[in-house]
Amino acid sequence: MSARVRIVILGGSFGGLTTAYELRRHLSPERAEITLLAKDERFSFVPSFPWVAMGRRSLEQISFPLAAPLAKKQVAFAQETVTDIDTDA
Ligand SMILES: Cc1cc2nc3c(=O)[nH]c(=O)nc-3n(C[C@H](O)[C@H](O)[C@H](O)COP(=O)(O)OP(=O)(O)OC[C@H]3O[C@@H](n4cnc5c(N)ncnc54)[C@H](O)[C@@H]3O)c2cc1C
Repeated sequence: MSARVRIVILGGSFGGLTTAYELRRHLSPERAEITLLAKDERFSFVPSFPWVAMGRRSLEQISFPLAAPLAKKQVAFAQETVTDIDTDA
């Protein structure tokens, strides 16, 4: 049996969420521990930012907290700002 891998995904927007969901679709929790790090604790629907700027929507209306939907897929979430990457560690 192959070893369990540890995967860290940086960013919780379209790129990060798509990567997390796709990797989980292919790799079971027994095969891979997946953790997503993002500096914001919410996913925000970027294309709607102009509506927020114009006061037509609130930020809450175009965003949702990341932790719960990721937990459903057994992807861990941590709100962290990444400052550097130590690949040796
Ligand atoms: C007004 C507007 C309209 C758009 N309309 C469309 C459209 O109709 N169709 C379309 O396909 N695209 C559209 N786009 C583009 C689309 O929004 C972007 O391509 C998309 O948001 C890019 O996603 P991403 O995950 O690569 O990066 P981002 O959305 O920039 O997300 C970056 C993520 O990384 C996190 N992050 C950044 N730095 C750090 C750090 N140091 N440590 C930890 N986390 C960090 C952020 O918190 C965030 O979660 C639009 C963009 C705008 C501004």
